[in-house]
Amino acid sequence: MNSFLVLASLASSAFSSSLVGLGQGSINATSTTAVSTVDLETGARCACSKLAISYSSLVIYPGSANYTSQATSYWDIRADLDPACIFLPTSAEQVADAVGLFATCGAQFAVRGGGHMNYPGSNNINGGVLLAFDNMKGYRVNNDTIDVAPGMTWYDVYSALDPYGRAAIGGRLKTIGVPGLTLIGGVSYFINKYGFAMDNVVNYDVVLGNGTQVAANATSNPDLFWALKGGANNFGIVTKFTLKTYSMPHISTTIQEFNETAVYDFIKASCDWVVADSDSSVAAGSVLTITYNATTGSVSPSLLGVQEGISNPPSKFVNFTAIPGVYKVNNVTTSKQWAENLDSPKQMFRVTFGHHSMFPDSDVLYSMYQTWKAAVNQIADVQGLYPTFVINISPASAVRVAKTNGIGNVWGLVEEPTIWWQLSTGWDKAEDDLRVEAWVRQLVEHLHGINKRNGLARDFIYMGDGGDWQDPFAGFPGENVQRMREIRERYDPLGTFTRLNWGGFKLGN
Ligand SMILES: Cc1cc2nc3c(=O)[nH]c(=O)nc-3n(C[C@H](O)[C@H](O)[C@H](O)COP(=O)(O)OP(=O)(O)OC[C@H]3O[C@@H](n4cnc5c(N)ncnc54)[C@H](O)[C@@H]3O)c2cc1C
Repeated sequence: MNSFLVLASLASSAFSSSLVGLGQGSINATSTTAVSTVDLETGARCACSKLAISYSSLVIYPGSANYTSQATSYWDIRADLDPACIFLPTSAEQVADAVGLFATCGAQFAVRGGGHMNYPGSNNINGGVLLAFDNMKGYRVNNDTIDVAPGMTWYDVYSALDPYGRAAIGGRLKTIGVPGLTLIGGVSYFINKYGFAMDNVVNYDVVLGNGTQVAANATSNPDLFWALKGGANNFGIVTKFTLKTYSMPHISTTIQEFNETAVYDFIKASCDWVVADSDSSVAAGSVLTITYNATTGSVSPSLLGVQEGISNPPSKFVNFTAIPGVYKVNNVTTSKQWAENLDSPKQMFRVTFGHHSMFPDSDVLYSMYQTWKAAVNQIADVQGLYPTFVINISPASAVRVAKTNGIGNVWGLVEEPTIWWQLSTGWDKAEDDLRVEAWVRQLVEHLHGINKRNGLARDFIYMGDGGDWQDPFAGFPGENVQRMREIRERYDPLGTFTRLNWGGFKLGN
């Protein structure tokens, strides 16, 4: 395949040289004095006005035409906030310039990729500067990799690769952003064979906290390269991801829905699947959910199953196919076509997550489901209540990829199958926020407490499934956390991403 270049509209300069030394900001790269702390308003006024001098058409203020649509471009309605200004860079140089200004002004800022991290302040900011990547949607398809700018969604990536019959290891729904998912780990349909999204990144172009740009890969800044594999937004802003791609002209898919009588068998099939899926000869994965409508009393287990190749129905899901269901559709298609119908639109609802991980045990997982269902009835009066019990699976083979690729990742997981169970709860009204959030938190910790006592609980918390009150770093090996802190000190001695950058899961001191 010949390399070619496709650059969308404004993003023509999204990819610059991979290592360009100092950015345009007048920051001294060798300075190690921590960023100044000024009040929110003063810092934002300084950064917004300086950005507007250089890039007036890329800075928007409250009251201007696009402000509201930008400030509300989030999946979780709770994440809508009121930034003092919004900067929409078109290139890595502009990102570097902005970060330099944030540091000199002491301006607090937030960063948004696909806008799917679902809690207020994780990707938006009240009174500070929001840097959003909507103008950086460039990509370049290479022989066995793709360069991706941080404004891309996974659907954009699958669409770009579709003409070449290739696939990248990324999100399972259409509109999730590439940057957030890749920086926290990344569960795809193909983890059993290819590991997590982060395990498939061969280079990151990064803007550091002093406005310099560096490349992080196996030979250049390898410590930063490792830290970015699961370390989230603690080290810099990534302006380009280079992802491995794999030949996958077709995928075989199954959509299956069941009713309440199938719940136990569905849970058993899920537990059997995570253990059996350690056979990584065929890449396959799933979205497994049980929704409960407390008003109608209906319970709906469902499976979205995907497998590489054309075997129809997909052979990896025989345990689910054997369960009598209300709806079963199999298809042979492409990653692009499959993702097309799996939208998770912006402003969907107010929604909170909570999760822990455990060794698979169908009887225990079933009793957790029963406890959850009974607890949902306690808040059944909440308007728009949309409770879902999610079963994410992490087979041992997914963990093995990082153990054998010579790079690793910050998770340091034990090579064993685990279930990452998650409670996802949506609702309509702000007045119910505290009630629902407290309900989720209490229930999640109650269930995890039982698993701790029966020896099934594991410490790992996935940032993509956890709630804002959870601390994923506490579940990583202590030596990895210590190493991440040293790397953060080396690459961000000013503390730009600790002191000024709002949101996400921050590595404490
Ligand atoms: C409906 C839904 C489905 C999901 N499905 C999956 C799934 O299939 N697999 C999976 O693994 N996870 C999944 N997740 C979790 C998802 O991966 C995370 O929410 C992820 O953070 C989303 O990335 P984003 O770019 O859309 O998010 P954003 O909210 O834009 O960003 C997330 C965090 O990353 C920071 N950030 C964004 N861009 C950059 C950058 N360029 N450099 C540095 N920091 C940056 C933000 O400041 C923020 O803190 C899902 C979430 C939702 C809501």
